[in-house]
Amino acid sequence: MATGERIPATLIPGDGIGPEVTKATVDVLDALGAPFEWETQAAGMAAVDATGDPLPQSTLDSIRRNKLALKGPLTTPVGGGFRSVNVRLREEFKLYANLRPAKTIIPGRYENIDIVLVRENIEGLYVAHEYFVPVGDDPRAVAVSTGVNTREGCRRIARYAFDYAVKNGRKKVTIVHKANVLKALTGIFLEAARDVAKEYAGRVEVDDRIVDACAMQLVLNPWQFDMLLCTNLFGDILSDQLAGLIGGLGMAPGANIGDQAAIFEAVHGSAPDIAGKGVANPVSLLLAAAMMLDHVGKQDLGNRIRNGIQATLLEHNVRTRDLGGTASTTEFTSALIKRL
Ligand code: ATP
Ligand code: MG
Repeated sequence: MATGERIPATLIPGDGIGPEVTKATVDVLDALGAPFEWETQAAGMAAVDATGDPLPQSTLDSIRRNKLALKGPLTTPVGGGFRSVNVRLREEFKLYANLRPAKTIIPGRYENIDIVLVRENIEGLYVAHEYFVPVGDDPRAVAVSTGVNTREGCRRIARYAFDYAVKNGRKKVTIVHKANVLKALTGIFLEAARDVAKEYAGRVEVDDRIVDACAMQLVLNPWQFDMLLCTNLFGDILSDQLAGLIGGLGMAPGANIGDQAAIFEAVHGSAPDIAGKGVANPVSLLLAAAMMLDHVGKQDLGNRIRNGIQATLLEHNVRTRDLGGTASTTEFTSALIKRL
């Protein structure tokens, strides 16, 4: 890519603390001279308020055009029969891979954590064919949910994980499942992933864990893990656990990747309890922006963000409240920009 070339990208500020952490991130990217040309679009509650639709057509069109987006957390309105906006976005653009790296910056309960979680993003129990069965006069006496995993989908996410391992010098992929109980739904995942792993023999090690044991091992000895390859629901749960190992949700970035588009986001949600107070930690979304820079081949800029964050937190000791500091979102952002 020629220097100076601008890269159009969709920007979705989102709900709750979304606009605060998005502004911080865009300010940092601007200060860095990042090549993104933002197209700001609404989704979530912000879009319901403006248009009545949590996922307006213009937002979808923008992402389809740019194939690249940075997104704040989105709230799906409760009631009104809206499906999760995040899930709809993943399905719409077939963003089958959710990449969630967890790396210690500030040593806390744990040190030297460096685990990359790859979560299948459009199958499993998240497909959510859910319904109630009436019994007697109770219309919701029985709840039923069915999950769907396809061999093709399992192989695709496994291949993504192993390719990532090869490209990024990772040594081992641990397949996470519950094939002893959910023999079909997660058995197929284990089987397909083991199958794909054979193509990487000698390059990437493979092993597997039952999800409950994996959760315990992540507390007792997280350093045994290099990459985790998870079904949709298990990946959702374990990625919050990983965030806990590295100082909380304020430190955890994520990328939703497919062949048609890539959407970068923080792992955390809209955090309504601290929204509008100016205290949110922007690091998750900043690290997501660094992943976005890597994605467009600007690893040098991505590294500058990561190094800058590390220096701001460790050398300058400027930290938001969730990390035990006193800095506001803007104070942290200014300190980071100054450092850059
Ligand atoms: P949602 O329904 O949108 O997921 P939530 O109530 O589950 O919202 P999360 O955003 O998932 O909230 O976060 C859980 C808790 O972690 C929040 O109560 C919040 O205090 C804290 N938290 C999350 N993100 C951040 C952040 N960036 N900075 C500081 N604290 C955060
Ligand atoms: Mg949440």
